Amino acid sequence: MTLLRAQTGAIPRPKPSSLSKPFWDGLAAGELRFQRCGACHGATHTPALVCSRCGSGDLVWEVSSGRGVVETWTTVWRPQTPEFVVPYMPIVVAVDEGWQMLSNLIGCDHEAVVAGMPVELELHRLDDGVTLPYFRPIEAGA
Ligand SMILES: [Zn+2]
Repeated sequence: MTLLRAQTGAIPRPKPSSLSKPFWDGLAAGELRFQRCGACHGATHTPALVCSRCGSGDLVWEVSSGRGVVETWTTVWRPQTPEFVVPYMPIVVAVDEGWQMLSNLIGCDHEAVVAGMPVELELHRLDDGVTLPYFRPIEAGA
């Protein structure tokens, strides 16, 4: 058994742009933010200037429930840089509001993941103040 954990070392840090800054500021404030289109009401992520569905520029930020299900995943044993502790598990989460997010699974064995597994957001603040979004399984009955 190998418990998946949040990274705590000197891993590469995000470099927010003016476009993605509201997303990263949201994480620092304890919120998972995404954009919703005022024209077609579709949710979109990653941060964009126009709606990925209809092309409208009428996008507003909303706060997610932070819940969803695992769509797909991979287990990384050979990291891109040596600062990452392995294994770690990048996942695509289908978030409840109808958008997808690339994140990482923590809080369970690396062999426990299944498609459709319910997960919820868990934020981890690194020692330099950067907050990273992870997801962990929702315990039965939670
Ligand atoms: Zn739209």
